[in-house]
Amino acid sequence: MFIGHFAASVAVKAVRPQLPFWACVGAAQLLDIIWAGLIWAGVERLRLVPGLPGSPLDLYHMPYTHSLVAAIFWSVCAGLVARLRWGVAAWWLALAVFSHWVADLLVHRPDLELWPGSGLKLGLGLWNLPALEMLVEAGLLGLAVAWWVSRRAEAGLPARPAIGWFLALLLLGVINALPGEPPTPAGMAALALLGFGLAIGLGWLVDRADSKR
Ligand SMILES: [Zn+2]
Repeated sequence: MFIGHFAASVAVKAVRPQLPFWACVGAAQLLDIIWAGLIWAGVERLRLVPGLPGSPLDLYHMPYTHSLVAAIFWSVCAGLVARLRWGVAAWWLALAVFSHWVADLLVHRPDLELWPGSGLKLGLGLWNLPALEMLVEAGLLGLAVAWWVSRRAEAGLPARPAIGWFLALLLLGVINALPGEPPTPAGMAALALLGFGLAIGLGWLVDRADSKR
């Protein structure tokens, strides 16, 4: 899952508009941001298997970012750090961090451990049905953005920044899904970080547009 995770970012921003949108965007992908760093460092590992349906990723070793216990750990850490800046509303960011694991549970093939080394791996495997999976991702994000736009209207904020961000994310999602030779694991991690950086940067532009009103 890539753009679907951002449905949680948008929902948290709609519920707690005082939180900066860039932080909501980063929170929903925090586990994958750390994952990309650990793939880069060779601590967590993946295999690229061209021909696997939906995603060429065989994510056979990611205990420190994508086990259930690790997801709870990073969510609590993010909440504690964010609390210093944004007070009690920061726990909504922690919820966005944890939502990542729940969404991954839906789409991943069984590769999510309960705790590092637990052996049992979970994943409902929606990736095996790529067309349905992409529809679910785009649909979740679209619904969340529609709700956010209506909340923005109530607060006197225009729809345009939110819709612009949504369209940019859809474009990133399409580019991400384009068929092609998968890069190396390190290249994959770099591309993932670039995508997250763009999404967060565009989120910051929404914050900037909103702050000028
Ligand atoms: Zn993930």
